[in-house]
Amino acid sequence: MRSYEIAVVPGDGIGTEVMTEALRVLDRVSSEFGFGLKFRHFDWSCETYRKTGRMMPEDGIDRLRDHDSILLGAVGFPGVPDHISLWGLLIPIRREFDQYVSLRPVRLLPGLTPPLRDGASADVDFWVVRENTEGEYSQVGGRQGTGTDQEMVVQVATFTRRATDRILRYAFDFSRGLGRPNLTLATKSNGIYHSMPYWDERFAEISAEYPDVATSQEHIDILCAKFVLQPERFDVVVGSNLFGDILSDLGPGVTGTIGVAPSANINPERVHPSMFEPVHGSAPDIAGQGIANPIGQIWSAAMLLDHLGEEEAGAHVMRAIETVLGSAGAPLTPDLGGRAATGELGSAIVNAIGERG
Ligand code: ATP
Ligand code: MG
Repeated sequence: MRSYEIAVVPGDGIGTEVMTEALRVLDRVSSEFGFGLKFRHFDWSCETYRKTGRMMPEDGIDRLRDHDSILLGAVGFPGVPDHISLWGLLIPIRREFDQYVSLRPVRLLPGLTPPLRDGASADVDFWVVRENTEGEYSQVGGRQGTGTDQEMVVQVATFTRRATDRILRYAFDFSRGLGRPNLTLATKSNGIYHSMPYWDERFAEISAEYPDVATSQEHIDILCAKFVLQPERFDVVVGSNLFGDILSDLGPGVTGTIGVAPSANINPERVHPSMFEPVHGSAPDIAGQGIANPIGQIWSAAMLLDHLGEEEAGAHVMRAIETVLGSAGAPLTPDLGGRAATGELGSAIVNAIGERG
């Protein structure tokens, strides 16, 4: 029997709650489709940090290395500064495993009500491809003249040709593979003097290798407006680390909740494991109440299955989510306008997986 080893890092807050549901779904779908999944649990979290002074052990990266994929919940909690939870776990994993693609689907699932206009007319179905290793999110820079009237902060954003070209190529290949060859570049070359003209230039040069892919580019400010006003225009959107981050929260926001949104941190060459996690964070405001929406985590698990090559199982999980959301009287969590608990929505999806049509 085909079998895969999955590292499971539930993390903090609602991360642990939604992970329970995703693992139930994975158990069920793997037995339906006849492959094995071995889960190895790592209880790395802000709690671990409070006890040990580290988010994960020193050899944490090595312990993850031999897995086929990583499924992450959410890390971060009040009382532990963001830079510790991020730079102590998430960012080292992304960088050490060279997960240079962050891939985030944005789709209006059945039953969701977009906040800004009549749901029936909204056609929201596109993908955001974000550069995940460099750019604006850097530790290079610093403060000088602290406390004087010369006080100044410098934040350096570095864009290498290697990282820029490979994310752009991934986005072109992805557009092609999707069968919707229409790629938009997020830029800001009218304001950011050096780096964004460089992105425009690389985009133009690489697009010559993909004559079948239609291209456009938009400045990030107007692009944000168009995500809201004309989401149907987009198929695949590619951007730098910062622009991609903004767009991949804005996208799900347009669909009505970030609770359903998944993301994949991919090492396309498969030299290292890729990591799958919901877009949302640990949501301290609702943690412990059992009302978090588990769909972002379950959809992330479906992306994990696709990455393993179990696309049929992944598609089946998506159908189960859509069947449940589209059915009358579905047990919806409060963010979807219902009153159901996390486990009730999770169970409905697990049951729908059993009903293979
Ligand atoms: P991070 O910095 O880790 O991304 P964040 O500050 O962006 O975290 P989230 O934890 O994502 O914040 O939460 C943002 C808001 O969305 C909160 O009000 C939270 O309750 C809500 N939210 C997030 N995830 C879910 C979910 N799965 N179900 C319901 N509500 C959610
Ligand atoms: Mg966030």
